Amino acid sequence: MAIKVPTINKKPGDIIRLTLFWAIIIFAILIGIAFLSPKNNLKEVSISEVISQANAGKISKIVVQGNDVTITPKGSKVATEKSTKQAETSIQQQGLKTDAPVEVSILPPSTTGDTIWSLASIIIPVVLIAAFFMYMMRQAQGQNNQAMGFGKSKAKLYGLDKEKAVFEDIAGNDSAKQDLKEVVDFLKHPKKYESLGAKIPRGVLLVGSPGTGKTLLARAVAGEANVPFFSISGSEFVEMFVGVGASRVRDLFAKAKKNAPSIIFIDEIDAVGRRRGSGMGGGHDEREQTLNQILVEMDGFETGANVIVLAATNRADVLDPALLRPGRFDRRTEISLPERRDREAILKVHFKNKPVDATVDIDSLAAKTAGSSGADLANIANEAAIVAAGRNAKKISNADLTEAFEKIAIGPEHKTKIMSDKDKEMTAYHEAGHAIVGHLLPDSDPVHKVTIIPRGGTGGVTWFLPPEDKKFTSIIEFKDVLARALGGRVAEKIIYGKDRVTTGASSDLRHATGIARDMVMEQGMGTKLRDQVFHEDNGGIMFDRMAHDRPYSDETAKEIDIEVAALITEAASRAEIVIENNRAGLDKLSKALLEKETIDEKEVLEILKDTILPKEAKLY
Ligand code: ADP
Ligand code: ZN
Repeated sequence: MAIKVPTINKKPGDIIRLTLFWAIIIFAILIGIAFLSPKNNLKEVSISEVISQANAGKISKIVVQGNDVTITPKGSKVATEKSTKQAETSIQQQGLKTDAPVEVSILPPSTTGDTIWSLASIIIPVVLIAAFFMYMMRQAQGQNNQAMGFGKSKAKLYGLDKEKAVFEDIAGNDSAKQDLKEVVDFLKHPKKYESLGAKIPRGVLLVGSPGTGKTLLARAVAGEANVPFFSISGSEFVEMFVGVGASRVRDLFAKAKKNAPSIIFIDEIDAVGRRRGSGMGGGHDEREQTLNQILVEMDGFETGANVIVLAATNRADVLDPALLRPGRFDRRTEISLPERRDREAILKVHFKNKPVDATVDIDSLAAKTAGSSGADLANIANEAAIVAAGRNAKKISNADLTEAFEKIAIGPEHKTKIMSDKDKEMTAYHEAGHAIVGHLLPDSDPVHKVTIIPRGGTGGVTWFLPPEDKKFTSIIEFKDVLARALGGRVAEKIIYGKDRVTTGASSDLRHATGIARDMVMEQGMGTKLRDQVFHEDNGGIMFDRMAHDRPYSDETAKEIDIEVAALITEAASRAEIVIENNRAGLDKLSKALLEKETIDEKEVLEILKDTILPKEAKLY
């Protein structure tokens, strides 16, 4: 039998496993010793028997050790029996005659057995406690990003192993790929550029929302150029000990230089790279030191040190200008959310190795997923496989795809959640209200699906999907979105009375208020406050500022509140007009919902075909 000795891989679990392993081994050995000791082969006899035999001259030798008694009978060379005497009394006191023909030797109390046990009872708890502490420390380190590893950067090394990525793994992102192909060429043929006197860029900033494939692109650059890839995340620099971030940066760059040509990838660079000096004296020493060290390292590359730093962020606007100066991150590649064609391509990449049946319609899924990132799409593909596996299918069907999409877009269905009939009816009216308003208002997206099955945190869902991707939204469109968002609460009010409306609308209200504030403050879409923005720049970290300074007056703040309220009031009243004038449609739809629970686009169109848009609700 081969025993596999666990080895340490730096994971907290391994430490404890290793320690336990050794503790068990030691324990087993100790038990073994105790049992194999010769005393254990002796025959147990009672002490009175021993004494009477000794008095009768049948025993040649008695060894007393503590309370243990070993007996060597006459004619035997070794002890063959054992016994236990009463504690605190000698065998003479127990009846052995002083003149009995036997040799009695008294040894000091046993060492081996007891020592082993007492040793074990000390060692084992100590080992366990030590293991526990090591485990806790490891954990704490994990949380504090290996704070105990001090200056060692946690940079991972990819690029030359099987995790290698190539541009082909990345769908869409064509312009970014184009930009980065240049970087690949710099890495592969530096001489070509140097001989013409060109300076090889040091840093490239990848700007784009989370999940758009920035990390993947950086890895692909390394993969294509066949160079090692060192990655670290900006948030890992933020440390509990001052000075650690900077030494980590030093270590990271040193490693990369040693392995040049190579790529350093700094994810979430905004975590360390935010504008400096916006706070009162030294509030963010650590962050600033880390950032300074990055700048120093990037300046310190000797010509010919073929290391290119790629950094990812979704907030390029908050970065310290020093980072963007020539010789640092002076190149920039924007990565946007994928458009429909790209979404299709990304989905295809992620379904490449998954068996799908003939029903699967990737194109229509691509159409439905406007606003999703590459990571979202990868997630949908994976979830679809999980759903299919859950029903023990061999292939993924379109229904699996739809379920996966809905799960990710609005959260899983909670079919088991029991709703009272009253709540169910209320939810049906509420959702029907959203649907009818969205259906009739001309600049709202069409209704895709209505359901009163609880999903995620909601009672039901009314789902609108744009027929095509759109980049921009007009005031008119926003106003229709606001009205349909309030349609649920308005329907409750019309059916049950104004003070019987429920908390079912809380997320709708939050959503609507958010849109209205954004319209007024960020988009210049107020009525009086048109074409001006009231942007509060919170580029610094929260406590960077002594006071919350906003770049507008108190009067304007009041005006903003008035404008926001006006937008909400207008939207509620439009929703009310629409629903009041289409009570029949509302009743019909909510009845259908109570019956079927989920109703799709086609059925909604059919049920609401007699509804009309009252002219008071029209904006134009
Ligand atoms: P970011 O770094 O921008 O947050 P990632 O590179 O970590 O995003 O992307 C996460 C995952 O999403 C990737 O591992 C990949 O599976 C998927 N993904 C994102 N964009 C694409 C794309 N254009 N093509 C294929 N997969 C993508
Ligand atoms: Zn609602």
